[in-house]
Amino acid sequence: MRHETPTACAIDAGLAPRVRQLGGEYTQVRAHLDAALNFFPDVGAEVEEFAPDAAAGTSYVARLDQGTRQLIDLAHEAELRQTLLESLQREIAEGVAPEDPAQTYRAAVERHRAEYAQKTTRQKYARHPTYVDFRSRVWEVRGEGAMPPLVDMIPAEPGDEHNADDDDDEDIVVGGTLQQFRCPLTATLLDDPVESTVCAHAYSRAAITEYIQQAGRRGAECPAAACHAVLTLRTLRDAPSLKRRVERYARQLARREEERRGSQWADAAVLD
Ligand SMILES: [Zn+2]
Repeated sequence: MRHETPTACAIDAGLAPRVRQLGGEYTQVRAHLDAALNFFPDVGAEVEEFAPDAAAGTSYVARLDQGTRQLIDLAHEAELRQTLLESLQREIAEGVAPEDPAQTYRAAVERHRAEYAQKTTRQKYARHPTYVDFRSRVWEVRGEGAMPPLVDMIPAEPGDEHNADDDDDEDIVVGGTLQQFRCPLTATLLDDPVESTVCAHAYSRAAITEYIQQAGRRGAECPAAACHAVLTLRTLRDAPSLKRRVERYARQLARREEERRGSQWADAAVLD
């Protein structure tokens, strides 16, 4: 019997579908992780506001913070594996797959994991949108004004100084999400907010409905400054998460007002 040299095709027959299936599984894993991750910002804000006392709040929020980072790490690994499997799939299709695909894949995963492990806390999380969202929501409960960029709030670790120059080239405002809780039409806090699906703006429901109805069939230009998106009633959607944030912000304003009055009374008492 003639011994056949294994060709690329011989390996590929069974391998290609398995690689594709595995890649698909990681796509699902990522979707689940993202869904779980998206709970954390809201939960963080709830806990920060309603914890029995400040110390308990800080410790719960710290644990949620840790959980957020762990999920981000897992999501990163799932993405890494998905990407490597996709490129392996391409190589198989082009007939240029490595001789031992499984071994090559495992080695590549290890190499990338080691690289990720070397990254500093800032590098891993300061620009991750969900982490930024988590910290911003928690900040909104008690913080004054807009949150400073996360790169300023996460202590520097060895390796961070190195990247100072690169960071400057990138988007500097990341982390300093500006809270825009005012309706561009009424200029007061959003009341029963709805958001646009064609631009990034939100409005008080009654005000924007009237505004669009007055404009007629062709729609109305978004009333936010410098935005030219065309709005119709169909380009609006409910914004339950924003609604909770605005309500929380209103409670925060009320608390501050109370504190301010409290301290005025205290001043008055001293003057008497
Ligand atoms: Zn707009």
